[in-house]
Amino acid sequence: MPRSIRPFAAEFFRRLPELPFQQIALAVAQQFFGDDVPAADLEHLVYEAVNFDCPIAPVRNGVYALELFHGPTLAFKDVGGRFMARLLAYFLGHSDRTVNVLVATSGDTGSAVANGFLGVPGIHVYVLYPKGLVSDIQEKQFTTLGRNITAVEVDGVFDDCQRLVKAAFLDGELREAMTLTSANSINVARFLPQTFYYFNAYARVRERGDENALVISVPSGNFGNLTAGLFAAKMGLPISRFIAANNANDVVYKYLQTGIYEPCSSIATIANAMDVGAPSNFARILELYDHSYKAVSAIIHGARYSDAQIRETVRQLYEQTGYIADPHGATAYAAITDYLNAHKATGVFLETAHPAKFLETMDGIVGKGAVTVPEKLRAFMNGEKRTVPMSRDFADFKTYLLNKV
Ligand SMILES: *Cc1c(COP(=O)(O)O)cnc(C)c1O
Repeated sequence: MPRSIRPFAAEFFRRLPELPFQQIALAVAQQFFGDDVPAADLEHLVYEAVNFDCPIAPVRNGVYALELFHGPTLAFKDVGGRFMARLLAYFLGHSDRTVNVLVATSGDTGSAVANGFLGVPGIHVYVLYPKGLVSDIQEKQFTTLGRNITAVEVDGVFDDCQRLVKAAFLDGELREAMTLTSANSINVARFLPQTFYYFNAYARVRERGDENALVISVPSGNFGNLTAGLFAAKMGLPISRFIAANNANDVVYKYLQTGIYEPCSSIATIANAMDVGAPSNFARILELYDHSYKAVSAIIHGARYSDAQIRETVRQLYEQTGYIADPHGATAYAAITDYLNAHKATGVFLETAHPAKFLETMDGIVGKGAVTVPEKLRAFMNGEKRTVPMSRDFADFKTYLLNKV
């Protein structure tokens, strides 16, 4: 957690609708990092990291999709991956130290982090992923890059990858031998840039002259994205409520109903980036609201949907409006729709990935050919996969890393 969160003056929010996404990102970054990075350097860093747009699409009366998938890997985690890479490179400066970034992934995080750090001097990234358990397109996005990116193909499941990473951080001998850091959303530098999206949501809705109370629906797994929204609210952003949209992995949903938090193992769904049974950012949410169940359940409304409901939402949304949402975005759309049936507000749902990233699932719902694969994504398919095979035994991983020094 940052030691303090500085709110913006009210004047800033009046000006916000006039600012484009990049300038909003810079203003928010200054609020967080302005004391540590001089203005000119920070501007350079933000404009390099946030080199893509974040447009809003009106889907139907009073409901908008905020598209967070226009970055290089077509998923919302790009903003954090790119920003963290540049911030780390900035602080390394011209030192000859190498920082080794370890990241465990079930798919999307690995590609966003690897592409964000690709070619950044002084940094080497090890992406650990479960062999055979990520989609072809996801695997291609981090195993074909080469250069300072090494894909480690672990003979195990995602939890094994996460365990190997955590064990490495706790190993004295390894830490003595090399500088290690994490690029999962436990890392503040990776998750804070996601606040940019929320300020942009507000700006784009107000820019359209819509003055209603604003509710934002967030498809949630590890809760890094929603936590970033809560940070934005703490900085004064006028969001009246957040909706935590879950798939069958519903520990936070249950907490919001009952006040009891019981993490469990994850369940596989068609919105697989949200298949998390013990979300690591839940502790941050509690901390932000002084562990008050009353305060947390006042600002966050919970909703959860089965795979069948998510499929039906994708189909209906497409049929009724022509908008194609991926399974994650559709979960958020279902939640905002249900919420607006009972409350008067303007709704924004976060569309967190391009539907082409889940092509097989999408084709099965909206029919082959409805989703077109963007050139950016196609380009990855041509590369050659290169990986380091690894057992799930920590001793093997440790020996491998020590040989790299
Ligand atoms: C990571 C991810 C999510 C969940 O975000 P959290 O910050 O883990 O809650 C939702 N949708 C997509 C497409 C993702 O990649």
